[in-house]
Amino acid sequence: MATKKKTKKSKLQLVKGMKDILPDEQKYWDLIRDKVDNFAHNYGFSRIDTPIVESTNLFKRSVGEDTDIVSKEMFSFETPGKDKVSLRPEGTAGVVRSYIEHGMLNMPQPVKLFYMGPNFRYDKPQAGRYRQFWQFGFESIGDDDPVIDAQLIIISYQILRELGLDIEIQINSIGDAECRPQYIKAIKQYYQTNKNDLCSECSKRLLKNPLRLLDCKVKGCNELAESAPQMVDYLDDDCKNHFMSVLEYLDELDVKYNLNHRIVRGLDYYSKTAWEIIETDESGKLHALGGGGRYDELVHTLGGRPTPAVGFAIGIERVIIKMQEKKVEVSKRKGYDIFIAQLGIEARKKALKLFEDLRGAGFNVVESMSKKGLKDQLDIANKKGTLFTLILGQKEIADETILLRDMDSGVQEVVNFNKIASELVKRLKKIEEKNLKAGK
Ligand SMILES: [Zn+2]
Ligand SMILES: [Zn+2]
Repeated sequence: MATKKKTKKSKLQLVKGMKDILPDEQKYWDLIRDKVDNFAHNYGFSRIDTPIVESTNLFKRSVGEDTDIVSKEMFSFETPGKDKVSLRPEGTAGVVRSYIEHGMLNMPQPVKLFYMGPNFRYDKPQAGRYRQFWQFGFESIGDDDPVIDAQLIIISYQILRELGLDIEIQINSIGDAECRPQYIKAIKQYYQTNKNDLCSECSKRLLKNPLRLLDCKVKGCNELAESAPQMVDYLDDDCKNHFMSVLEYLDELDVKYNLNHRIVRGLDYYSKTAWEIIETDESGKLHALGGGGRYDELVHTLGGRPTPAVGFAIGIERVIIKMQEKKVEVSKRKGYDIFIAQLGIEARKKALKLFEDLRGAGFNVVESMSKKGLKDQLDIANKKGTLFTLILGQKEIADETILLRDMDSGVQEVVNFNKIASELVKRLKKIEEKNLKAGK
């Protein structure tokens, strides 16, 4: 007997390292978006959106071929047209490409841009770290004045403070092409003589990316890094003065910062100021929520004329986890003013149209047209916290009226159908005035 082949459907689920952002979590995203928009507006940053897909070479040349990000963590593929492309692992490279490509060099400098969007890294997934992760970032391109570094630091600091997090800035200068080579030489020498105490990753890094050794949290490496030579001792006058100015500006501002000679940032393109935004949890463990730095060489490296720049990026999922841990209170979107209830098919037709009319006129309306009973609908109106419910049934249609129910008092009045809008305006205004007086 021939058996039917079993065609069991495999269960479809999230790709490893990916995450859904469900409706319940959206209030955090709304709040962060609003906060970022407000800061951008006040500090004069304009929004830019660059594509998620860029040529792989962009990241090789900017982030650097020897970094973990480019050598191991990129989602890279060839398009049917044989272009080698990657999903962006970070936001700055695309912004700088766009700055050059669209001739923003010829606009008044600095050009101040901000972005918000997903990045992709094929990293080991852990709590709060996903392979698709969102960042927002601010970039100021075209000016090397240390006051701009200080302003970006304060923006990165205050956004997170205003989101309810207790954070501090850790800051360092990593010098520039003039003075950093001497420092790298010193670092190499230092680690060479202590080679036996390094972890296997760092033994490899020592040749290609020695600054990253300062970053390593493995015990032996961690201890070595604490007593390693420090970049501040190798800064030339130009870099030292720049760094001192940044710190002086920060002293004028209400910002908690600490010097940390181990902040080097992982990417090749940084120079001078580098900082991380650190949150300390209840057990005293430190978590970096984001970071920034000056990248004076990057525009030139990517084919533009030499142009100084500085920026930062913050990981949104990690910020939200911290907000949730801290139980930061996040109010939902403003409630609805008016619910439209309907009884019977004719009423439903008329209610559909009324909903469109009121919504179009700018009223904050909500409905549940698929529900039939009045009790069900009033329950929903209550849950949504509406101020008024309009009730339309057979009788009201015949009389060309509508019932206006005050949800607070439960009082219902008959209102002429054609006068609904003006009646609602009048009543909403009264409530607003009352709230204003009560200081709500
Ligand atoms: Zn220098
Ligand atoms: Zn190590």
